[in-house]
Amino acid sequence: MAKSRYFTPKELIQQDLITQYGVDYCMDKIGQTTLDALDSLRYDYQRAIELLDRDKSTKDIQIIINGTWGFWRTKFKYSGVRAVDCKIGALNSAHKKFRAFDLKCKHIDVLIKLVKENSKAYHISRIENPLITKTWLHCEFSPFPDELIIFNP
Ligand SMILES: [Zn+2]
Repeated sequence: MAKSRYFTPKELIQQDLITQYGVDYCMDKIGQTTLDALDSLRYDYQRAIELLDRDKSTKDIQIIINGTWGFWRTKFKYSGVRAVDCKIGALNSAHKKFRAFDLKCKHIDVLIKLVKENSKAYHISRIENPLITKTWLHCEFSPFPDELIIFNP
């Protein structure tokens, strides 16, 4: 099974899909390239925060996708892979193709900078315009991304 170091399957995938298809199928469908990219982004984000003169508590270095603990637990259920019949978001959303994840973190400016400057290394092909979507960063992953496309939601 494809694996992530930092994110559990529940953080990445809508529960209904896990129930219906099982964890292994869903994680493999996301694929190791994307999972590694998410892990790299999570690792680099933590490093960037550690280098800044900001707080370094757990909540500062976390990237949240679906909430599975604490304050986040009930708040986000559809920020990762969504079922085809999920009513959240666009009909043909990349979330339904196992390719899009909405990343939340305390220092979103740091995350946006990382993605914009290293999008190819993170296998990110498209993001939603962070000037419009301000509290999370919608990232679409691709095995061989071209120049980063920033689109308006
Ligand atoms: Zn999204």
